[in-house]
Amino acid sequence: MSDTRTSPGVSDTARAFEPVIGLEIHAQLRTATKIFCGCSTAFGAAPNAHTCPVCVGLPGALPVLNRAAVDLAVTAAVALGCDVHERSVFARKNYFYPDLPKGYQISQYEQPLATGGGLQLPASVGGTYVKLTRIHMEEDAGKSLHEGFADSDRKTYLDYNRSGVPLVEIVTEPDMRSAEEAAVFFETLRQILVWLGVNDGNMDEGSLRCDANVSVRRAGTTALGTKTEVKNVNSFRYLEKAIQYEIGRHIDVLDHGGRIVQETRLFDAAQGKTYSMRSKEEAHDYRYFPEPDLPPLVVDQARREAIARALPELPDARRRRFIAEYAIPEYDAALLTQTRGLADYFEETARISANPKASSNWVMGEILRTMKEQGTGIESVTVTPAALAGLIAIVDQGTVSSTVAKDVFAKMAESGRGAAEIVAAEGLAQISDASSLEPIVRRVVAAHPDVVAEIRAGKDRKFQFLVGQVMKETKGKGDPKLVTDLVRAALGG
Ligand code: ADP
Ligand code: ZN
Ligand code: MG
Repeated sequence: MSDTRTSPGVSDTARAFEPVIGLEIHAQLRTATKIFCGCSTAFGAAPNAHTCPVCVGLPGALPVLNRAAVDLAVTAAVALGCDVHERSVFARKNYFYPDLPKGYQISQYEQPLATGGGLQLPASVGGTYVKLTRIHMEEDAGKSLHEGFADSDRKTYLDYNRSGVPLVEIVTEPDMRSAEEAAVFFETLRQILVWLGVNDGNMDEGSLRCDANVSVRRAGTTALGTKTEVKNVNSFRYLEKAIQYEIGRHIDVLDHGGRIVQETRLFDAAQGKTYSMRSKEEAHDYRYFPEPDLPPLVVDQARREAIARALPELPDARRRRFIAEYAIPEYDAALLTQTRGLADYFEETARISANPKASSNWVMGEILRTMKEQGTGIESVTVTPAALAGLIAIVDQGTVSSTVAKDVFAKMAESGRGAAEIVAAEGLAQISDASSLEPIVRRVVAAHPDVVAEIRAGKDRKFQFLVGQVMKETKGKGDPKLVTDLVRAALGG
């Protein structure tokens, strides 16, 4: 019998087991060229347009390490609190696959670029500190094209544009205990890598990919269970679903006296299930050996320190500073630090306007709405922080009401003109002198004797109707507080 009082939907059987999850994330480093040659890394070119003898592995071609890729990998490692090793070694990982023309992948094995470090998860998911095992550099493989050609039913084509694209592989310790925690880890890591400019975060284009290692063990025990690895899950939602499915499958097998086979599995998003891709993983032998064509990678102390000094303030620190420095709510601060561009935009607006809460409201409201409508990032918003601060200033001065301010914003976005200029040119200034408003109030009151009678009979709610009518007559420009006072006065107090 399941006990639904403590944990709805979780059976006693499920509670008798503890899930254990470790992630391996491949992140493309945001360089213009590949890791060992000068070919472009740009996405979307015709198949094999970005290839050369080095990245398709022709005999005699020699790799030369891309310095910019190393800087980005070190940036990620330093930001994640890893120990960056002065000396690391590239190694050949040997296996045969058509998307790997050299017959080996250049990676790092026994001596990776960095070890240790970790990532603090938000308190909302339990606040776990997930430790990292290692970060190493490697090259990506090519891509098999199984569809899209007239003879795709008989042939597979190969595109080597990705072959030799620089990656870091980030490996976590098995520190996560739920599918949700793993998904949040992946999300948080993505946010940081994009923030640092290390990765473009584009999961649809394969720039960021995640493999999930999952096992379960009897609650209260410490030995790790046999794990399975779900390969290449490329959305937060699918990652959570794939892990959830795998946890349930493990528990089911073990609970029925079965045994988990260590294997690699794939997630079928349409079915919401994982299926076996290849097993006997333990028998895999990549015959790693040090890459003879590349010297050991040396990152000296001066270079590490220079990279550490150049690190931007990270999202979590910035969120906390926004709360402290600008006295904005935690909710606002979390939203405003989703991306570095948005945080910069908010902060500049808050500084110029000296009104942080109004700045936050505008960014969370109209700015995010504009971005969503256009399907673009903050860099495409045409209203600059200085221009937005100008709008906030005239609202604060009472020149326009907040309702009219929204229209002014739309006109600013459309025309690129400043707020004050638009208000002057279009006569949008708030009407806050009683002498201009009184005739309108008198007219509205005279036009609605029935409503006035109802209000006098005690129907207070009808009062707002009259205020609304006056505001309508002023095209929203009447000072709402003054209009309210004048209507009350017209009704005799
Ligand atoms: P492999 O040799 O199969 O690559 P590793 O020990 O290198 O395995 O670990 C790869 C990933 O799997 C790491 O993220 C690690 O935390 C995770 N992992 C290892 N053992 C387990 C386990 N029993 N359950 C869940 N995750 C695990
Ligand atoms: Zn090349
Ligand atoms: Mg491993």
